[in-house]
Amino acid sequence: MSISLRNVRKDYDQQTKVLEKVSAEVQTGEFFVIVGPSGCGKSTLLRMIAGLTPITDGEVRINDRVVNELPPKARKLTMVFQNYALYPFLSVWDNVAFGLKARKLSQSDVQNRVNNALKMVNLTDFKNRKPRELSGGQRQRVALARAVASDADICLMDEPLSNLDAQLRIRMRQEIYNLQRKLGLTLIYVTHDQVEAMTMADHIMVLNDQHVQQIGTPAEIYQHP
Ligand code: ADP
Ligand code: ADP
Repeated sequence: MSISLRNVRKDYDQQTKVLEKVSAEVQTGEFFVIVGPSGCGKSTLLRMIAGLTPITDGEVRINDRVVNELPPKARKLTMVFQNYALYPFLSVWDNVAFGLKARKLSQSDVQNRVNNALKMVNLTDFKNRKPRELSGGQRQRVALARAVASDADICLMDEPLSNLDAQLRIRMRQEIYNLQRKLGLTLIYVTHDQVEAMTMADHIMVLNDQHVQQIGTPAEIYQHP
């Protein structure tokens, strides 16, 4: 599914004007990275795409339909947060199943999706553990499994690796990249890490001072003569 941002503006209030005239086209199956300094509005932009925060002006379209008019289900969208948002009292398996159970899926469909997702992120052997019994990387993979199991076409990731140490970040970067390619996800990935942006992105949007400073391929953005 493609995503289109058209002159998007966001003011939280008169004093807090966060984004202005943000426009971009994200193609189906693309790995699209948003970079910019802390506080520049990256999370806000993701939340507007997800329909979690009202848009002050302009519009967000998913497959050429205005996002506010789409029922949440039709957005086929999932989100991965920086802190993973896992339920501490549920097992890995139940954490991945939780969102699916709220939907009208058959029990066997839920089981298949959860088991496949856990297999994909190599967590099958950990399915009965609680989040506190996992390493940081494993927790991150539970969050990824949840996104995989949702069968969404669009995945929004908000600094998903920023709580991991440097070595693990590199490994998880590769895992996310592989998943995105394998599933053909349209992925919008927020980071303030230029190396992540450079190594993963098809296109990068640089946000700065409320505006889109630049959109281009990693080569266009980072390789100046
Ligand atoms: P980033 O993700 O780039 O760090 P955010 O989108 O989180 O930036 O925040 C952008 C600006 O909007 C910041 O100045 C922040 O304080 C402000 N902000 C974020 N959420 C809210 C909110 N719910 N109410 C008011 N201001 C907010
Ligand atoms: P079985 O095939 O043993 O009858 P089920 O059909 O209930 O089991 O589920 C298929 C597989 O899904 C199980 O082998 C197990 O790996 C997994 N599974 C199902 N529910 C859970 C759960 N609540 N916690 C962990 N794993 C589960």
